Amino acid sequence: MGILGEFFNSAAICQSMNPRPQQRAFFNTGNTKQVSFRIEQLKRLKQGILKHQDAIVKAAKADLGRPEFEAYFEIGVLGELNRALKQLKSWVKPKQVATSLDQFPATAWIVPEPLGIVLIIGPWNYPFQLMFSPLIGAIAAGNCALLKPSELAPHTSQVVAQLIQDTFEPAYIAVVEGGVETSQQLLAEKFDYIFFTGGTRVGKIVMEAAAKNITPVTLELGGKNPCIVDTDVRLDYTAKRIAWGKFINAGQTCAAPDYLLVDQRIKSDLLKNLQHSIDEFFGDNPVKSPDYARIINEKHFSRLLPFLENGKVIVGGEAIKEKRYIAPTILDQVRWDDPVMQEEIFGPILPVLVYDNLEEAIAKINARPKPLALYFFSRNQQKQAKVLQSTSSGGVCLNDTVMQYATWGLPFGGVGESGIGAYHGKSSFDTFSHYKSVLKKSFWLDLSWRYAPYKGKLGFLKKVITGS
Ligand code: NAD
Repeated sequence: MGILGEFFNSAAICQSMNPRPQQRAFFNTGNTKQVSFRIEQLKRLKQGILKHQDAIVKAAKADLGRPEFEAYFEIGVLGELNRALKQLKSWVKPKQVATSLDQFPATAWIVPEPLGIVLIIGPWNYPFQLMFSPLIGAIAAGNCALLKPSELAPHTSQVVAQLIQDTFEPAYIAVVEGGVETSQQLLAEKFDYIFFTGGTRVGKIVMEAAAKNITPVTLELGGKNPCIVDTDVRLDYTAKRIAWGKFINAGQTCAAPDYLLVDQRIKSDLLKNLQHSIDEFFGDNPVKSPDYARIINEKHFSRLLPFLENGKVIVGGEAIKEKRYIAPTILDQVRWDDPVMQEEIFGPILPVLVYDNLEEAIAKINARPKPLALYFFSRNQQKQAKVLQSTSSGGVCLNDTVMQYATWGLPFGGVGESGIGAYHGKSSFDTFSHYKSVLKKSFWLDLSWRYAPYKGKLGFLKKVITGS
């Protein structure tokens, strides 16, 4: 390489080491470290969301054919924002920790500090909420942020960009709209944190890119969430809660039950109840229902279509390409090796598998990657304890579906292939903070037990080391 080549190469490296100079300069002013500043920005964000709420609802309708009721889920982030406003002053408080005698005289504490500039990349299925929910944590923790909404929900992406532009200085919080290439360009820069929500395949790409700069990540991914149904249940409520969690947003919910694993003895009664719930929710022709969403795009429609050939359709099964409509569908007689059981479905298709005893169901689940959510319907407390103890998943909800997501005191995130890290409420603040350990010594005394000569000091050292 000639001198010029080397110059340009090192210039490129410098750029990748020092991206977003305006945001870096903004962060370096220290303003975002002031709690009063963070509170003011959260209040601005709240006003921005309230001001744009009609546009948010309209965009969710345009992108996903969302019923208005479900479009309001997007604005549910306001609840989280209000909680952050109420609790931020207690979250930022340094936490004192005890020190041992050998440190005397000393005090020690842990103090949260912002990470710097964070990149938030979002998916299309809850395209507003999944951008702003992490952003609330990033602001609360005192960071600058860059948002990359999903290109597959273009109407929402535009609203996100407009809202941020209307609300914040671009050096503080900005949006970069675009698709895969844009995302890859951003990932080539050095951020202080990357918060990614999306599929497991892309999650691996994000983690690989982050590793190059040792950038910490949260990966909020997907997977196949099992829903086990025992005999000891109230069937009508069970069916309603499963049908609701599966068919909101036409099954395009990361925490939706992916498949049913039902005790053989109650299968036919459960299926009758599920059919009844679907009829009750969407009528006998769901394509006419104002309360049922559409598949995001043709690619996903075509991906889902072959699944309708698996097992036996006992409810639904209709699909209309021009409308990107797939009816709420239940597939019976599905086998573990059918294509519908090989990947996250992420659509309104519910395969049903059976088990004879709970151990068998647990073994089937444990033979697969750890899911984001696991659902277990049963009144039996011993069985509940058994499922909790012998399975691993991001979260568990007993006797309902998806509602754990909306329980703000519960951190939300995956484990294993369903993700790394968690957020919501205080955990969002923790995610976007570095907890710095501080030890402060004093000058008024200097215990000599650690200094040479060591003669006669070993006894004390042994006590220090063993903590006795
Ligand atoms: P996706 O992984 O395809 O895309 C997510 C984001 O990554 C988008 O902004 C996209 O532009 C970007 N991207 C796509 N390909 C890329 C590449 N090769 N390199 C860099 N960036 C790339 O996910 P999706 O289809 O938008 O969303 C659906 C998935 O997200 C499902 O698996 C679902 O379970 C998961 N999800 C998880 C959660 C959660 O909280 N755990 C929430 C919603 C969705």
